[in-house]
Amino acid sequence: MDVGGTRTKYGLVKSSPERSLVAQRVEKTQTTGLDEFIAAADHAVFQLCQDAGISRSAIAAAGLGVPGYVDGDLISMVYDSIAFMEGSSLRPALQDALGIPVYLDNDARLIALGEAYFGGHASAGRANPFPPRLLSLTLGTGLGVALVVNGRLQEKSSINHLAGHIPIRPVTRPCFCGFSGCLESLVSSAALVTAYLEFSGQTARKPEEFPESAQTVYRLAEEGNPAAEQAIRQWLVDLTSGLNAYIYLYGPDVIVLGGGMAKSLPPWVSHLRQGLFAHPFRDYRVTLDLTTLGEQAGLYGAAALTMSR
Ligand SMILES: [Zn+2]
Repeated sequence: MDVGGTRTKYGLVKSSPERSLVAQRVEKTQTTGLDEFIAAADHAVFQLCQDAGISRSAIAAAGLGVPGYVDGDLISMVYDSIAFMEGSSLRPALQDALGIPVYLDNDARLIALGEAYFGGHASAGRANPFPPRLLSLTLGTGLGVALVVNGRLQEKSSINHLAGHIPIRPVTRPCFCGFSGCLESLVSSAALVTAYLEFSGQTARKPEEFPESAQTVYRLAEEGNPAAEQAIRQWLVDLTSGLNAYIYLYGPDVIVLGGGMAKSLPPWVSHLRQGLFAHPFRDYRVTLDLTTLGEQAGLYGAAALTMSR
C-alpha cells in the first residue's frame, strides 16, 4: 500500500517465480479516522484478491508506505488530512485486522527500495543483484530523497526524509522548512509552474489556477515556448545543483529520478547528465536513470520491504 494525502494505491505483488504486480487499485484515501482507514485497507485486500483470482491465504505480508517520518511503529509529520495516523497504533492495528505481518516505512524510502529491487538498475555482470549505492529522488508535489545500499535502506528510520530541503539558490519566497531557495522549493511541480507564470508575465495567476500543471510547462517548452523553456532551464540548473550536492553527500553509483514529473523528463535527462560535475574520488562514475517503475515504484517498494527482512 502506498498512502498519499488524497489517494492510496493498493497492489498485489507476486514474489515468485517472477516478481510482478498482478493487481492494483487506486482509491481515495480514507481520511475520517484510523478505524475507517483500516476497514478500507481490509476491503481493498479483499478486492485485490478477487481481481487476481487468488485466495487471501496466499498473501504472505503487507508493506505500507506513508508520507512522513517513520521509526518502527512510530509515524509523525504526515499531512493534516491523515493526522490520525500519527503515533504508534496504525501498524499493529492493521496487522491485527489483516491477520498477516505488516511492515511500515516512509514512502520515499520505499520508492528507493522498489527501484533497487525491481527497477533493473544493477550493472550487468555484477555478482551483487543490487546497485551498491542507489539514490532515489522522487519529483512531484514535493521532493523525496532516499539511499539504498546493497539492497537495504541506509538508516533504520526515515531520519533524513526531509533531505530535499538543502539550500540551493536563495530566493525571496521562504519555504516552510526555514530556508529560502531549498531544493524542494525550487524543483517541485508547483515551483516549475510558478517560474513559467513569472517568465511569461502572468504573475497575477497562482500555480493552482494553472490546471494542467508541470506537464504542460514541459510540453510548451518542447514546442519552443520561450517562457516555458526559460522555466525548464532554470529548473534543470537547480536540480543539477542538488544532484551534485547529493553526490558529495551520498556518493551514489546510480541516481534514479522518479515521481510524477519523471515521465516528462526523457527529453531533458541528457542536460542533467552533462551537468554532473561532482567527483568524490578519482574515477568516480555515476549513472543517472529515469524510473522504470513509474508511479508503481512505491507499491513495488512496499513489497520489497516485506522481502528485505
Ligand atoms: Zn525547504
